[in-house]
Parts: sequence; structure tokens; C-alpha cells
Amino acid sequence: MAAKKYPNFYYKDCVSCSICVQACPVGALDLTRAGKSGRYRNLFPELVNDRCIGCGLCAGNCPMECIHMRSDYEG
Ligand code: SF4
Ligand code: SF4
Repeated sequence: MAAKKYPNFYYKDCVSCSICVQACPVGALDLTRAGKSGRYRNLFPELVNDRCIGCGLCAGNCPMECIHMRSDYEG
């Protein structure tokens, strides 16, 4: 059986649109990771609980293609 995969984010391409957060069927993502400036518009997505089922919907819906599913989670 293949190892469960988790979303890894390439934040340099992320535009904080929150589409991935809305696409997640189990509420595992939120825009809670502060950007360098700490301003609200610089919040980035991250896993906020252990509900992720590895479905890949977040990665599939990201308009910037900055989510990559991997067997480990680096944030
Ligand atoms: S892989 Fe699926 S369950 Fe996991 S964070 Fe992305 S949308 Fe949510
Ligand atoms: S969908 Fe992509 S660009 Fe939008 S907040 Fe999520 S990771 Fe960032």
C-alpha cells in the first residue's frame, strides 16, 4: 500500500487565495502561517490538525500549483 501523502507548500508562489482551504473536505487546512511581514494578507496555508486524508484536492485546486503531495510534511 502506498504511503499516505501530505500537502507541502511552496510559499514563494502562494498568493494566499485560500482556495486550498476551501477545497479541503475535512477542514485540515487554514491560513494561519504568518508571512515575513506578519500582516493579514501574508498569511499562508498549513495543516492545522491531523485530519488530512491525503486526497490531494488542495493541490489539485491551487491556481498557482504550489502544493505538492509528498509522503512527509515539511510545512
Ligand atoms: S490532501 Fe485533502 S485532506 Fe489533506 S489537506 Fe489537502 S484537501 Fe485536505
Ligand atoms: S490555493 Fe495555492 S495559492 Fe491559494 S492559498 Fe492555497 S497554496 Fe496558496
